[in-house]
Amino acid sequence: MNLEQQFRENIKKVKAYIYVLQVISWDSNTEAPRNSFRRRGEVLSEISKEVFLLQTSPEAIKLVNELYEKIDSLDDHLQREVRKAKKSIDKIINIPQSEYLAYQRLINDSQLVWEDAKKNNDYLSFKDNLAKIFEYNKKFALYYDANANPYDTLLDDYEEGMTRKEYDLFFNALKKDLVPFVKEVLAADKKSYAKLINDKFDIKKQEVFCDYLTDVLSFNRNSGLMKKSVHPFTWNTSPEDVRFTTKYLENYVLSSIFAAIHELGHAIYEQQISTEFDDTILNGGTSMGIHESQSRFYENIVGRSYEFWETHLPKFKEIFPEQTKGIDALDMHYAVNQVEASLIRIEADELTYPLHIMLRYDIERMMINGEITVDELPQIWNDKIEEYLGIRPTNDSEGVLQDVHWSGGMIGYFPTYALGTAYSAQIFNTMKKELDVEKLIKENKIVKINEWLKEKLHKYGSSKTPKELLLMITKEEFNPKYYIEYLKEKYTKLYLTK
Ligand SMILES: [Zn+2]
Repeated sequence: MNLEQQFRENIKKVKAYIYVLQVISWDSNTEAPRNSFRRRGEVLSEISKEVFLLQTSPEAIKLVNELYEKIDSLDDHLQREVRKAKKSIDKIINIPQSEYLAYQRLINDSQLVWEDAKKNNDYLSFKDNLAKIFEYNKKFALYYDANANPYDTLLDDYEEGMTRKEYDLFFNALKKDLVPFVKEVLAADKKSYAKLINDKFDIKKQEVFCDYLTDVLSFNRNSGLMKKSVHPFTWNTSPEDVRFTTKYLENYVLSSIFAAIHELGHAIYEQQISTEFDDTILNGGTSMGIHESQSRFYENIVGRSYEFWETHLPKFKEIFPEQTKGIDALDMHYAVNQVEASLIRIEADELTYPLHIMLRYDIERMMINGEITVDELPQIWNDKIEEYLGIRPTNDSEGVLQDVHWSGGMIGYFPTYALGTAYSAQIFNTMKKELDVEKLIKENKIVKINEWLKEKLHKYGSSKTPKELLLMITKEEFNPKYYIEYLKEKYTKLYLTK
């Protein structure tokens, strides 16, 4: 076997193990009984060890390095695969094993420490773990590249090619243009739709409506399915097996609807990737940011549009005649686009959401660069949220302790949420020039939008970088102005024109 064949064989084997791990993880997140966790943990650790060995054994590393030496002679897809493989190996092998294991233990322990701290509103009990997590992440980033700024390295882990340079430009634009605009919208007179939104909606009937939405968005049911879970997520092994979940709350019907549409966005992306990448590491969406751009596109631009409710309110009314008495499409359009200053990121609306991310970016950046310490964190958090949204947490559970990410070692992840939404506005700007998007939504032809996205973006899987995709689709590098324009246009029309 030559080098390329050996590489191919190895990847194929890794993918087979990963397939097994994924099926187990779907089961554990949806169907598995509570007590199955013990035995599952044992089995998972055995299989994971095999995968780790296959990826990081001296032979596997040698193989990747040898291919990397002759990278220019490889075809495009193989080049991309070898670069990706080399990068993930280099991220691990420079870390001393004792530190790697100590970090794994720290992350494992920190989950419970954080959960308790959040429950008891006790930041002090979590502070030391948090400091260590930031220290380790910084150290590991420097092991990978001693000459790069460690936060740049961490940002690149979650969104290939993105550094502080791009994010600073992005968040500075939001600070300058969006913060004052949000204040204007928050101060505007608004009708309350709380009665409709928080009415009692039978969960079985909500399931019927979410099932209907699955067809509206042209999800391929022969290659996927929908279930429920506590935290909605999308799961896939290949474009032929893509599953997602939504979350049902009896007194908040919008939760299941928009979680379903959001996850459908992720799921349609995965279903439309070319199957040629199945046995490669180029399968799956290319990055966190691009993935989120797809889920947010369907959730906000499609699902929260007036046209969407013009077409689908009749079905909603048919299922919930009592709760929707006297409600028309415009009411529904307002009800799904309520703007409110809130303390909790995951409950934030489309307009205020990016400000929650901006705050986390500011803090991560300062923490990694040693400009602030964990002791100052709660105060800085509260000051910033007050500066951006005009409200202040009364305790740390609704402030610095609210998210799981940092306790899980995910530093550099948050910015991709806002970035993805901004990508979606830039892509939408191009799409509008080629498709009559509003008309397609109104005529229930979302499948045409799916087809456009498949040709322009989805089919490539991870064979292109986020930057390459954005440039190919929009003929421009990332530009936050489209996002700001989109938000201003939409919310001016909704709340600032008499
Ligand atoms: Zn998402």
